[in-house]
Amino acid sequence: MNDTSYQLADIFTCTRCGYCCQGETTVSLDKDDQERMIAELGLPPEQVEKKYWRITGAIVQMKIKDHHCIFYKKDTGCTVHTGRPWRCGQWPLHPSMLADKNNFHTIRASCPGLNQALSWKEFSYIFKQLLEQKEKQMKQLLC
Ligand code: SF4
Ligand code: SF4
Repeated sequence: MNDTSYQLADIFTCTRCGYCCQGETTVSLDKDDQERMIAELGLPPEQVEKKYWRITGAIVQMKIKDHHCIFYKKDTGCTVHTGRPWRCGQWPLHPSMLADKNNFHTIRASCPGLNQALSWKEFSYIFKQLLEQKEKQMKQLLC
């Protein structure tokens, strides 16, 4: 493989199938996620908590409705997109896929948006290049 400049679309293009928003539990929200979601919804925090969150001790997750995240709508997908938790934004490009071939296969099997034609080696190579490109851009921004 050469040092071509890669695009995200080389490894992933979301099909908006919604599989990652299904299930009986959701990712948890850290403090920043909670604040961003409250700002995005434009509602008082108590109302957001009551209407949208499932709070178990210190763990804050989103409520489940009809076996999917409360914010998921069949025709439009995520209805809180810019206020979604960072883990939702990161999915499915979890760095653990670089370290573990089984993780790569498990995650790819659950996300049709990942390029199904690439081997783990090919995928990892491009993903690493993209992470490095992103890191360089961040450094340039901070200079
Ligand atoms: S917040 Fe949005 S992206 Fe995250 S699980 Fe809910 S509907 Fe899906
Ligand atoms: S499972 Fe993958 S392709 Fe489907 S909505 Fe989630 S990220 Fe997009």
